[in-house]
Amino acid sequence: MYNVIVIGAGPCGSVAAKESAICKLNTLLVDRKKHIGRPVHCTGLISKRTVETLKISQNSILNEIKGAYIYSPNNKRITINAEEIKAYVVDRETFDKELLQEAKKKGVEIQLETEATNITGNTITVKRKGKEIKLKSDVFIGAYGARYSKNNSFTKLPPPKKILYGLQTIAHHSSIDRNFVELFFGSDYSDCFFGWAVPMDKKNAKIGLACSNAILAKKGIRNLLQQLKCNSYENPIAGIIPIGAVSTTVKDNILVCGDAAAQAKPTSGGGIYTGTLCAKIAAKTIAGYIESKNSLTEYEQSWRKKIGKELKAGMLAHQILTRLSDNQLNQIFGVLSKPGNITAIKKIGDIDYPSLLIKNFASTLKWGKIIRFFLASLS
Ligand SMILES: Cc1cc2nc3c(=O)[nH]c(=O)nc-3n(C[C@H](O)[C@H](O)[C@H](O)COP(=O)(O)OP(=O)(O)OC[C@H]3O[C@@H](n4cnc5c(N)ncnc54)[C@H](O)[C@@H]3O)c2cc1C
Repeated sequence: MYNVIVIGAGPCGSVAAKESAICKLNTLLVDRKKHIGRPVHCTGLISKRTVETLKISQNSILNEIKGAYIYSPNNKRITINAEEIKAYVVDRETFDKELLQEAKKKGVEIQLETEATNITGNTITVKRKGKEIKLKSDVFIGAYGARYSKNNSFTKLPPPKKILYGLQTIAHHSSIDRNFVELFFGSDYSDCFFGWAVPMDKKNAKIGLACSNAILAKKGIRNLLQQLKCNSYENPIAGIIPIGAVSTTVKDNILVCGDAAAQAKPTSGGGIYTGTLCAKIAAKTIAGYIESKNSLTEYEQSWRKKIGKELKAGMLAHQILTRLSDNQLNQIFGVLSKPGNITAIKKIGDIDYPSLLIKNFASTLKWGKIIRFFLASLS
């Protein structure tokens, strides 16, 4: 009998399992895959804060990011130069493997090629090499990523508010500066998000975008590669980004975190910082439940207290972006490109907490009143 069985050895599952072991819980981590971290559909852009809090070694780090070139639909460029390292580009396969090894070092038992298929009470059914096996645990953590709809419906938790369809390739592309990401807004690329070119080194970049459906994503990536004059690139890999956190993340003795709970930031699709933050909270809540019979619903309250408002503000920004025409976006870029506003972005901008910037600009932009009204309704 285990105290915790974690389903899924992505970053959130490995962090949840490691924290559970640190809390002296008898922990098993299962993943359906043989090779953790593959295939890579993620850009791997994570904040300096994430690298520090997860204590990531240099092994997975490909590049350092100090700023961004942001392009409006009419191709006007805004430069945000933070003049210091703000983020890193990591190789997701190495990153995921390192987090898994860290969990193992803390005493987590790991079973790969082991797919969870059902949970009833304290019993989980897993499939390994065609055989069904039953295991027992006090509590389960669902960290199975964006696979809830078909494969993980056994947790009977609600779906996310929205699914974004991401498409990304690795291409020969030299940015103006290898320490700057490039972001491309406008309907040529996406109906609700943006395109990106994130440099891995001097010559190669991860080029991708997200849209509200797969057909638009295919059209958008063609346009983006054309715009960047990229002739040499790998086959694009598709990936799902769930946004708008699920309404319930605790059901009986099952807690969900990461993409399984749609805890990614709706403004950027970044899910590693927020998901691993929630994974740690899940582990600590379970420790309190095992030791002192605290309620498991404390997980729901605690993670929403930490980042619930942030994710709601991000979802609001996403909804506004979805409704803006290219003309309106060009107008906003016009306002943002004023020197005072660039300084504000440099000072306040934080990729993990974009709501700080949204709140700041709510007072500057024409539709500030509307944004302020929505933000007030969140508090
Ligand atoms: C195109 C794209 C770009 C992105 N770029 C970034 C970025 O730059 N920065 C960032 O922070 N985030 C980014 N993200 C989001 C990020 O990839 C996810 O938020 C993150 O991987 C979520 O981690 P997770 O551990 O919740 O899930 P995952 O990493 O998806 O891991 C889930 C694991 O669960 C396993 N699993 C699933 N079902 C079962 C089962 N039934 N039994 C056993 N195992 C199971 C899977 O095999 C998998 O290993 C991007 C996403 C996409 C699609």
